[in-house]
Amino acid sequence: MTRPPSTKQLRNWDHRYLWHPFTQMQEWAQEDPLIIKRGNGSYLIDTEGKRYLDGTSSIWVNLHGHRHPVLNQAITKQLNSIAHSTFLGLSNPPAIELARALIQIAPKGLTRVFYSDNGSTAVEIALKMAVQYWQQRHPKAGPKNTFLHLKMAYHGDTIGAVSVGNIALFHSRFKPLLFPTLAAEPPYCYRCPLKLAYPSCKIACIDPIEQILKRRHRELAGFIIEPLMQAAAGMIPQPAGYLKRVRELCTKYKVLFITDEVATGFGRTGKMFACEHERITPDLMAISKGLTGGYMPLAATLTTDEIYQGFLGTYDEFKTFFHGHSFTGNPLGCAVALANLQVFRQEKTLSRLSAKIKMLTQWLKPIADIPHVGDIRQRGFMVGIELVQDKTTKTPYPLSAKAGHHVAAIARSKGLILRPIGNVLVLIPPLSTTTEELKKMLGIIKKSIETLHND
Ligand SMILES: *Cc1c(COP(=O)(O)O)cnc(C)c1O
Repeated sequence: MTRPPSTKQLRNWDHRYLWHPFTQMQEWAQEDPLIIKRGNGSYLIDTEGKRYLDGTSSIWVNLHGHRHPVLNQAITKQLNSIAHSTFLGLSNPPAIELARALIQIAPKGLTRVFYSDNGSTAVEIALKMAVQYWQQRHPKAGPKNTFLHLKMAYHGDTIGAVSVGNIALFHSRFKPLLFPTLAAEPPYCYRCPLKLAYPSCKIACIDPIEQILKRRHRELAGFIIEPLMQAAAGMIPQPAGYLKRVRELCTKYKVLFITDEVATGFGRTGKMFACEHERITPDLMAISKGLTGGYMPLAATLTTDEIYQGFLGTYDEFKTFFHGHSFTGNPLGCAVALANLQVFRQEKTLSRLSAKIKMLTQWLKPIADIPHVGDIRQRGFMVGIELVQDKTTKTPYPLSAKAGHHVAAIARSKGLILRPIGNVLVLIPPLSTTTEELKKMLGIIKKSIETLHND
């Protein structure tokens, strides 16, 4: 038997062979990377046996904790049948059962499931379906080939998803590759561009969106939105009532309403899907991250019968949706996604979550009083803590000050993994996090923020 490589060896090889996502590799080369070898519940355990609370749910995917017996078993069991067979021209039991289960829990009116393997592709598929739908179902509507989205939106890193995204730091380089879109001002209550306050504003930021829809709806195939919370923008929530109004406007102006629930889906906001908070059904819905409980790369785009019908015809009408991936409908992924839904039922994940969400709100209060904390934004188990240089003027730290990075590094030394977005500390714990663990996370966050100097 060969001995497994030491931490030192692994670090060397990482530095020598790897290129990490969203990472300045010149800095990475100066650091000793933390190498996670195991997981257990809310904890990540490194090669040296040191334990860390997983404050990001491994970038927003994990729901029921690491190494959950039911999820583990589902994969093992499926492995004993088959790991993968193609979905092009063939089907498989876990993919069939999962589609049925997803339609049972999805917002009412969504009736079809199209699989892919990550959030970006689930979004790409929604965009392509929308465009093709209009061409085939309503040819007289004329060319409806573009999309409306919010500024600061994030829908993934592939080119179509970047086209409907709007985070300058990530996206501006690729502008020459992107298709033209329309971007609307998002709600951002902490720094309201209209200088109004909710609820007396009556969500006035909707009016410019209606103006855009009124003038440009003929060109628009759809309006894509991260419902309830623009996550990668730095956890920017939408006020209650906003989504419902957007849904109504899309119906009124005959523009498909596309919700990207990749981050918000599967309980993260306190309900199974964020749309449920406003009792709305989108025309297309993209899901991924939590779909497999954070175990495997799997995604799906759900849609309505109306859209599905637009793709039916004889073979030589070529109304087929010509899109698919090598791993579409992967049986291992679908098996563990089914087990994920089973755990939701068995452990009553959602009903137990609501008490924990209230506690989280309570424990965030003392953090809001810290001098360099400008705003705390929470929707369920999604939290953004915006650090500011000056609390009264809301003056942001310059990005180069790396305030979020600094606080996250301190938190890590105290046993909590966080991944900030610029000046916004993000806390997205697994839904299974116990109240004790949650309390511990917030204690570490408070102490870590308090290390920011008062000057
Ligand atoms: C993470 C994310 C995506 C992209 O998903 P990937 O699996 O990383 O491609 C898309 N939309 C939202 C809202 C996300 O948070």
